[in-house]
Amino acid sequence: MNQNMNQNNNVESDKYVQIVVRDYDKEESFQNLLWVLGRMNFYLENKYVVPLPNNKSFKELAENPEKINTINTIDKEMYYEIFLSEIYKPIPTDIVSKIINNKHDFYSSIFIELKKLNKNWNFKIFDVYNLILVLWSPGGSYHTGTGAILRRVDEEGRPDTTFRQDFNDGIVHEIIHIGIEEVIVRKYKLEHWEKEFLVDTICKLYLGNLMPQYHTQSQGKNYERMNEFVTYNTIQKNLPEAIQKYFENKV
Ligand SMILES: [Zn+2]
Repeated sequence: MNQNMNQNNNVESDKYVQIVVRDYDKEESFQNLLWVLGRMNFYLENKYVVPLPNNKSFKELAENPEKINTINTIDKEMYYEIFLSEIYKPIPTDIVSKIINNKHDFYSSIFIELKKLNKNWNFKIFDVYNLILVLWSPGGSYHTGTGAILRRVDEEGRPDTTFRQDFNDGIVHEIIHIGIEEVIVRKYKLEHWEKEFLVDTICKLYLGNLMPQYHTQSQGKNYERMNEFVTYNTIQKNLPEAIQKYFENKV
């Protein structure tokens, strides 16, 4: 019912945004694991918990992330062989597909709101988001260039229950990241937790009626001064301008 009401207010609501659930193939899964291992120092510094394969060779790599950036082709092939024979398994996608399909109306309502931001200040929206299930990841992450959203699940493809965030709220969180990455985060060089604070603020302030249980991250520094500039209205009308003002007024 809400959906119909919202649709009347929006001229672009006819364009349907798709979320496609998939897992990585062998090669992609290996590349992604190397990418995660290469970022282990960042994850540790920021207190992210990242499950890793229970495998001696890869645990060693995790303890020496700098090795990954200088890894030669021969070593890489050796690790890939170990990965194929001891680690890789496809992840069933049916459980998460069902969760996403059951939330069709929720996502429609979310995108009706986000399309307003796209129209007003170029919030980036993809026609298709690939929701990629992964085993080794700090929970959720995203790739700006492709609109890929990564989500940690268990080997059966069940969402991680240790995660405090509701599964779908977490997907929206990543969609917001992708939307603001170029036009705000890179342009104004936001710090990591400053960026997370902004994403949480958009989710709570702008989409809060659709995500009443939205869970804010408690890690990291507090950027509450941003609240002077980031309001429901500035989010809707011109968030990059609000962020520019926030930086101009930074002492
Ligand atoms: Zn985030």
